[in-house]
Amino acid sequence: MIVQLDQIDLTYQSPDSQVEALRDVSFSLAQGEFVSLVGPSGCGKSTLLSVIAGLEQPSGGRALVDGEAVTGPSPKIGYMPQKDQLFPWRTIWANVTLGPELHRAGRKEGMERAKDLLDRYGLAEFAHKTPSQLSGGMRQRCALIRTLATDPKILLLDEPFSALDYQTRLSVSADIYAIIRQEGKTALLVTHDISESISLSDRIVVLSNRPATVRAIYDLAELRHLPPLERRDHPSFRHYFNAIWKELDTHG
Ligand code: ADP
Ligand code: MG
Repeated sequence: MIVQLDQIDLTYQSPDSQVEALRDVSFSLAQGEFVSLVGPSGCGKSTLLSVIAGLEQPSGGRALVDGEAVTGPSPKIGYMPQKDQLFPWRTIWANVTLGPELHRAGRKEGMERAKDLLDRYGLAEFAHKTPSQLSGGMRQRCALIRTLATDPKILLLDEPFSALDYQTRLSVSADIYAIIRQEGKTALLVTHDISESISLSDRIVVLSNRPATVRAIYDLAELRHLPPLERRDHPSFRHYFNAIWKELDTHG
């Protein structure tokens, strides 16, 4: 297991209040697996990603990445936030090479990797443009390439498509899915869109209202081999949709 969460609890402490965000959360990700995390808004999804990324310390339980206890940020983890967070004044090239530029070790390899990724994923001709000259979907692809330039083993994606309109979102998510698969990465995607989670994942972890606990884990065995857009026509798509919707609805 490349990511292992063992009975994770997390309570945010401030001088005058406490917010319990995670309670007894356990699940794991196998190498190369694509898992989605679905749950109501404010339940603790981003908090869980922060624990895996080593940005928040759990109050109880433990997180292991690649067999080692998480104690802080690690180059094994790539994090892709909700907004693409590209710097508007930097060119696409200067944006995607930001990671390698900041890390002296592996700088040259990182630059080469970024160039190769831009070439392979159709962005080479835009290298000298700025983000505002690209479509929302292309910017999202750049954000992924920037994350991949440092060669992380695991990608944490926090609602990366939520700023895109519905049509764009369908094609961009399929596009991003293809890149992640091709690069052989392990991915954990946070989304509140049930259809999106079924289209993209091998398994889906459904969380309860805050404090987040694991309500159910669905294994999408019959859909795994299908590309995202084809899954929506498969008979079991509806079955999973209803099951997950009910799980979220029943428990708030
Ligand atoms: P989600 O991503 O599922 O919408 P979050 O993980 O962002 O939810 O937040 C879970 C809960 O923890 C929310 O009630 C949020 O207000 C609270 N929270 C998040 N970050 C902090 C923090 N740094 N300090 C205190 N409370 C926080
Ligand atoms: Mg969030």
